[in-house]
Amino acid sequence: MSILKYMTTAAMLAGLAFAAPAAAQEKGLVGVAMPTKSSARWIADGDNMVKVLKERGYQVDLQYAEDDVPNQLSQIENMITKGAKVLVVASIDGTTLSDVLQQAADQKIKVIAYDRLIRDTPNVDYYATFDNFQVGVQQATSLVKGLKADTEKGPFHIELFGGSPDDNNAYFFYNGAMSVLQPLIDKGTLIVGSGQTGMDQVATLRWDGATAQARMDAILSSTYSDKKLNGVLSPYDGISIGILSSLKGVGYGSGDMPMPIVSGQDAEVPSVKSILAGEQYSTIFKDTRELAKVTVDMVDAAMSGKEPQVNDTKTYDNGKKVVPSYLLKPVIVDKTNWKEVLIGSGYYTEAQLK
Ligand code: BGC
Repeated sequence: MSILKYMTTAAMLAGLAFAAPAAAQEKGLVGVAMPTKSSARWIADGDNMVKVLKERGYQVDLQYAEDDVPNQLSQIENMITKGAKVLVVASIDGTTLSDVLQQAADQKIKVIAYDRLIRDTPNVDYYATFDNFQVGVQQATSLVKGLKADTEKGPFHIELFGGSPDDNNAYFFYNGAMSVLQPLIDKGTLIVGSGQTGMDQVATLRWDGATAQARMDAILSSTYSDKKLNGVLSPYDGISIGILSSLKGVGYGSGDMPMPIVSGQDAEVPSVKSILAGEQYSTIFKDTRELAKVTVDMVDAAMSGKEPQVNDTKTYDNGKKVVPSYLLKPVIVDKTNWKEVLIGSGYYTEAQLK
């Protein structure tokens, strides 16, 4: 190693030794509890949170619970034991955290609900998310556009899928979507062939693609042996993939059976590829880089005893209080704008989507 190289490396190491840990110690530990690594969206959320928290001088304890509620509870308990000053929680089941968050409150630890509202506890300080009702509106708007149900008489046969019934967001997505679809159902332009409507009939526990695929299989054989399905409201890309496999399994997407219009959410890579291949019709892009920034702004404010910036103080009643929220804007992505939205924003490189 040349002397110059050696000196540079030594200087860098010295810099690291002094700068990073000192700043981190100053600002303290933030616990970040994420639901699962089975979906790329949450991996991006975790990565972005770590990046922004570290840039601002925090130490981070990031944990994934693989969609297991007791696992998430013990991860959060551990964060409290380790001395976290703030907890950022994307819950698996938004109703199960009351006890652990009481422990947090007893130790004056601030709690930020991340993306998903934490319900039935007064011990959640802020909520950073996207406009979840609007996500549903956008999913249904793009379904209607794909079907041309806004300009043609129909009737078009559709089926409805909802998200996980323990996730508050799932109801917002469904209600947002139905605010667009119900008037067209009432008019007879859209027909839900199976008759299955309402979250009690259309929910998909834990957002599981295989569960959705099995439900789609059952509906296709009970309802669509003598007519064609034209569209499916899907709340999440992983569910859309399950629905699309079921559809392909009975011949949709070839010959005289065009692929039904299928919506989605999260702009996950396999689904963007599916859109480019002409299978999934659309998805909803939620920029997790922005969500991380808004959340860390809340962490900063909470740590310094200031009020963070919020833009909604009415919508998110968690059963105990209305949680002050910051809502980011979701964006519809389809074949016409994927490049501009996903590549143009630097979220993906073109190579990732090939
Ligand atoms: C999130 C969605 C995601 C879904 C499944 C919801 O709470 O808001 O972005 O598609 O969970 O992971």
